[in-house]
Amino acid sequence: MNWFCEEQTPGLKLCFKYRELLHSEETPYQKIEVYDTEEYGRILLLDGKVMLTEKDGFIYHEMLVHPAMGYLKKREKVVIIGGGDGGCLKEVLKYPVKEVYVVEIDRRVVEVSKKYLSFLASSFDDPRVKVFYEDGYKWLKEREDKFDLVIVDSTDPVGPAEILFSDEFLRVVSEKSFLYVTQSESPFLHVDFLRDFLKRVKKYFPYPLVYLAWIPTYPSGMWSFVMGRKRDTDIPDSPPPGLRYYTPRLFEASRVLPVFVWKRLYSP
Ligand code: SAM
Repeated sequence: MNWFCEEQTPGLKLCFKYRELLHSEETPYQKIEVYDTEEYGRILLLDGKVMLTEKDGFIYHEMLVHPAMGYLKKREKVVIIGGGDGGCLKEVLKYPVKEVYVVEIDRRVVEVSKKYLSFLASSFDDPRVKVFYEDGYKWLKEREDKFDLVIVDSTDPVGPAEILFSDEFLRVVSEKSFLYVTQSESPFLHVDFLRDFLKRVKKYFPYPLVYLAWIPTYPSGMWSFVMGRKRDTDIPDSPPPGLRYYTPRLFEASRVLPVFVWKRLYSP
């Protein structure tokens, strides 16, 4: 049996026992690896960072998608920026949406996911889906049309993903979309990033929401999401059947933040 480790911080590694390294390649954007592991099934890594695992990916994908989809009355046009593995898309397609635009900068992530993560990436074949292989900020800036929801399912806010957490990007999202949601890193390890990012979001979406989920294979396990709302509406309505983590009541609870997080985010 072999092991591989993800360096989650300079002082912490998470290691996985694996049966087989199914794929490894360098693209112009990042290194893509897919392992078949004993504990978590298939795992997709980009530049050595765990993007999703077969066993716990549903937590992240359900919590990224269903709170925001629940807030929408009109759910016709949804944009997913990043999300090349298809997991976020799979959750969005559980609603009667008309069009879903996936804007993934690295075509190889989609192709590798289709080959090794078919339990997620089969969603790309849905006739409602249009895929664009380019930078999400550039694509959105050039679009004339408006959207009901923009979901950012990106890598960490460095390299090509950095722009997706910037003022320029948030300004464009607020002009083009009614609602916005993004993954926003770990409040246990990156609370200062989350504090600064939340201040930026509030400039463009007057009613931002922070909520948490526990994702075992993400650094520290404590993960955050930020939803940008233009109106302070009530909680989401009933989600599609068959979900394994999300309920509207759990979402309400996930908005109640631990003292150390709340203090850092909201106290002067
Ligand atoms: N759930 C994962 C996480 O939280 O880290 C993200 C998974 S998804 C595979 C992340 C995707 O974002 C990658 O495939 C990457 O190529 C894509 N990406 C990064 N920056 C991007 C950008 N500026 N525009 C579009 N896609 C981008």
